[in-house]
Amino acid sequence: MHPVSPPRAWAEIELSALKHNLEVARERSGCRVMAVLKAGAYGHGLEEIARFLATEEVAFFGVANVGEARRIADAGVSTPIYLLGATWAGEREEIVDRGWVPCLSTLDEARHFSDLATAAGKKLTCHISVDTGMGRGGFLPADLPAAMPHLDAMPGLVIDGIGSHLPSADEDEAFTRGQAARFAEIVGLLGGAERFRWIHLGNSAGLLGYDRGPCNLARPGLMLYGISPLPGHGDALRNVMTLKSRVSVVRQLPAGHGVSYGRAFVTTRPTAVATVGIGYGDGYPRHLSGQGAEVVIRSRRFPLLGRVTMDQIMVDVTGSDVAPGDEVELFGPNIRVDEIAQKAGTIAWEILTGITPRVTRIHL
Ligand SMILES: *Cc1c(COP(=O)(O)O)cnc(C)c1O
Repeated sequence: MHPVSPPRAWAEIELSALKHNLEVARERSGCRVMAVLKAGAYGHGLEEIARFLATEEVAFFGVANVGEARRIADAGVSTPIYLLGATWAGEREEIVDRGWVPCLSTLDEARHFSDLATAAGKKLTCHISVDTGMGRGGFLPADLPAAMPHLDAMPGLVIDGIGSHLPSADEDEAFTRGQAARFAEIVGLLGGAERFRWIHLGNSAGLLGYDRGPCNLARPGLMLYGISPLPGHGDALRNVMTLKSRVSVVRQLPAGHGVSYGRAFVTTRPTAVATVGIGYGDGYPRHLSGQGAEVVIRSRRFPLLGRVTMDQIMVDVTGSDVAPGDEVELFGPNIRVDEIAQKAGTIAWEILTGITPRVTRIHL
């Protein structure tokens, strides 16, 4: 037996913070919650998060595709699973068989589902997707009044819900208000709130920033993981993932010494350089290079030097007592994911879902 070293880079995931954020989503939306668990629960660990939320009275788990649905179901979790995106023909038999809830964009899809369900002697619960502005899936509002009787007549289907998605809830308030009004209008045209068991529109930004209208279900993703897409709500949420690594070595470099690939940074004074065991191969973005990013060691911020490499980064720890083995926070309670995303020129969603499998997830 060989001794097993602790991980090089790891993500600590605070489940009690997730639970807190779920409560905030419930309170702010005034709705039941579909917890969005796509992309491995935004990098937090699909099965672990699904198992944890299984006892939290979440109405649905929202996933991107059948692969994720299967993993949740195979983990023994019985919370209903909703497929957030359109499905293609080859996926539908499994969906019918397992009773996952798809959203419908076309009558062709609906007919196929109905035929498969009828052949299996089942009824498949489905939601209608309405494209009120996202342009990714769903029926156009103008087409729905004519399509609805056909959907209702399909023997294998139970049309149990209706939903739409907001493309700009964190960027364009006027458009989003108009969209919410169009959604409320189409729900009204199709028979009103009594016609559907589930009516849903809001993602995190939608439920935080806008009235619920006719909705009784909200679909938060990002906010569950502690990040608000809208300014002014972040303080109500608790940080869930903390990305950590360790200092492997601390070296003294003279002035005029390059640091990292391309020698994009050259020391201007004698510099204590800590090398940390994490890089873009772990999902710490290479685009942070030269953008003034910082890390936290011993409760202090230190600047990143030079380019992020695949497996290691270098940090200026001059004048500190930082030592090999010290823990390093790349993001977490002291450096918010938003800050990292902004400096890397991307969004928090991409940072979280970009943390690679090499990073050990530790659920606390
Ligand atoms: C990803 C997604 C969500 C969750 O969005 P957040 O901005 O992370 O809250 C909600 N609904 C749909 C359809 C999605 O694809």
